[in-house]
Amino acid sequence: MADNSVAPIVAADAAGIAAAAEVLRGGGLVAVPTETVYGLAARADSAEAVATIYRAKGRPDFNPLIVHVPGVAEAETVALVGERARRLAAAFWPGPLTLVLPRREDARLAAAVTAGLATVALRCPAHPAMRALLAATALPLAAPSANRSGRVSPTSAAHVAASLGTAVDLILDGGPCSAGIESTIVALREGGGWQVLRPGPIGEAELKEILGSEPAAAASTGIEAPGQLARHYAPGKPLRLGADEAEPDEFLIGFGPVAGEANLSPAGDLAEAAAQLYACLHAAAQAQQPRIAVAPIPDFGMGVAINDRLRRAAA
Ligand code: AMP
Ligand code: MG
Repeated sequence: MADNSVAPIVAADAAGIAAAAEVLRGGGLVAVPTETVYGLAARADSAEAVATIYRAKGRPDFNPLIVHVPGVAEAETVALVGERARRLAAAFWPGPLTLVLPRREDARLAAAVTAGLATVALRCPAHPAMRALLAATALPLAAPSANRSGRVSPTSAAHVAASLGTAVDLILDGGPCSAGIESTIVALREGGGWQVLRPGPIGEAELKEILGSEPAAAASTGIEAPGQLARHYAPGKPLRLGADEAEPDEFLIGFGPVAGEANLSPAGDLAEAAAQLYACLHAAAQAQQPRIAVAPIPDFGMGVAINDRLRRAAA
């Protein structure tokens, strides 16, 4: 018997993509795997469809969405893509890099997508399921992470179903996400400055190499990227960082030699740890222990993004 408390979950094969494209064209919501986390996609040109994303997530309407496009040509229809953006796109698209660029005045985007900002966040994803959906719909797709606002992000179809239930029309199952952590968000400022608004799989050093300049000091005004909110990714239990061993009432998430109930990467590999992070947090949230502890994670490479998420989850 079908479980009526969760949306249909279908394989991200040709038939699944066709069904999902149909839902999206009609203004519905589809959860779709990407290389970062599962996204909650809607057509970005429809105010009603975009409003449905905010409702499904319980997301505050001041928190803008990332718009997904198949490439630079489509990015140009909604944003002013300058020379620096082009260089970053050539280096990292398709992939886990989101560019915050000036929004074109004639962009066919629902106003709520950018939450009234003069900029738009754009990403060109690499995952074949998301790319197939972009091709099948020929629409820009707004897609935040497919979880209730403020909670742990989903890296599997089961995580999406547990968080959103029937608030989504269809869930495409493409297996676990390879990067496992949200995209790096970089803002390119008029006048030549740039800033990482959210650390992610692409490090600041890699961006610096392409851009050829130092990032501007991190004095961002107001809530520009609410992924930067101090409290986010919350597992719903107290979380202690830098733990070498568990207290009796703690579920320990290990790393390397710190074993734990679950382990982000027994080999101490940071990319593997990022891919496992949210699955371990979901497991810890469901465990019987009332508290969570996490082993120390080195603060370089992918570790910067992992520690960023863990600090907000612990806040
Ligand atoms: P998520 O909900 O996990 O997809 O996160 C999307 C992130 O992109 C949030 O932190 C948003 O605040 C950020 N974002 C989207 N559009 C913009 C924009 N125009 N300027 C700055 N940040 C943005
Ligand atoms: Mg999110």
